[in-house]
Amino acid sequence: MRMLLVDDSVTMRRIQKTQVGGLGITDVLEAGDGQEALGKLKSNMPIDLVLLDWNMPVMDGITFLKTVRADDAFKDVKIIMCTSESEKSRVVEALKAGANNYIVKPFTPEALKEKLGM
Ligand SMILES: [Mg+2]
Repeated sequence: MRMLLVDDSVTMRRIQKTQVGGLGITDVLEAGDGQEALGKLKSNMPIDLVLLDWNMPVMDGITFLKTVRADDAFKDVKIIMCTSESEKSRVVEALKAGANNYIVKPFTPEALKEKLGM
C-alpha cells in the first residue's frame, strides 16, 4: 500500500509516519500543502490512500479534495480527512466533497487502524 501524508506540520507528518509504519505501511510519501500533494499524487500513482490535513497554506485540504475528486484518474484513491476537534462540524462538507472517511486529531494508532479498515 502506498500512502501520501499531507500536512503543513512536519511534526505531525513525522508522528503519522511512525504510526502508519507501526501498521506495516512503509511506502509513504509526504507533502506540506495541497499543491505539493497534487504534484506528488500525479507523479507517484498508484497511491492508495491520502491522509489529508484541513488547514494548510497555498492550497488547503478541502480544495485539494475537490480537485482530486474532479479527476477520474484518481477515483480509486481513498482520502481520509484529518480534522481537529473544533473542525468536526465541517466533516459533512468533506464527506460531501468525496472524502472516504475522517479522523479527529490527535489520534491513536488504534483509531487510525480502524479508519483505514485494517
Ligand atoms: Mg495544518
